[in-house]
Amino acid sequence: MLLEQFGGANGELAAAMQYSIQGLNCDDPERKDLLMDIGTEELSHLEIVGTLARMHLKPMKADRDSAEVDPLIAIAGGGGVGLFNSMGDAWTADYLKITGELDVDLRSNIAAEARAKIVYERLINFCDDPGSKDALQFLMTREITHMKAFTAALESMGKSPFSIGEIPPTPVLVDQYFNDSSGVGDEGETDFRGPWNEGGNWEIVEAPEQGVENLGSSNGKDAPSKKRKTSSKDNYKSRERAS
Ligand code: MN
Ligand code: MN
Repeated sequence: MLLEQFGGANGELAAAMQYSIQGLNCDDPERKDLLMDIGTEELSHLEIVGTLARMHLKPMKADRDSAEVDPLIAIAGGGGVGLFNSMGDAWTADYLKITGELDVDLRSNIAAEARAKIVYERLINFCDDPGSKDALQFLMTREITHMKAFTAALESMGKSPFSIGEIPPTPVLVDQYFNDSSGVGDEGETDFRGPWNEGGNWEIVEAPEQGVENLGSSNGKDAPSKKRKTSSKDNYKSRERAS
């Protein structure tokens, strides 16, 4: 299980490579320093989790039952760690999210730290060895520290939260919330309102019925947006009632 954080999608090697390579591509010297600092720290985490995993795996080398259960570790790997995740899948550079756009990369990093945190939390919950738990608690804590640093770095860039890249989104369309899900089941007909679709500039656009009509039309020439209608607020349950 520990191998998930060694050679897995949200593991320490992926984090180290993602931040370090983002740093190499970064023209902003301040945030480049941040990316290289945290990328290097993640390499030290790789050493910690690798050492921890090795301590637990080493006895498998001489244990017949363990070898039968997990030959990749015991027979092929000799009771050592390899660049695999917990299921034995090989590490891949496809895990890395590197866009060359600093604010986009920082958002990816915040999400990556959140995923790493929750994986460590699950490992802790399944762990009954006090020493291993201490190490995992340390590693989990540092992911929150990194999440804080990446968040502060993003906010300090002074960009509007929804300003990504340079081409502006299409006016009106950008503020339309499509009510696309409504179907069968106990709650299938229930639509909800929240800050994700009401207040500010939000405009609700009813889509399901029109979507079905469009699917049924043979010419397919009508753009979906032409057939959509804006709904009244009465169609929706209030947030208070929903909660
Ligand atoms: Mn880490
Ligand atoms: Mn981290």
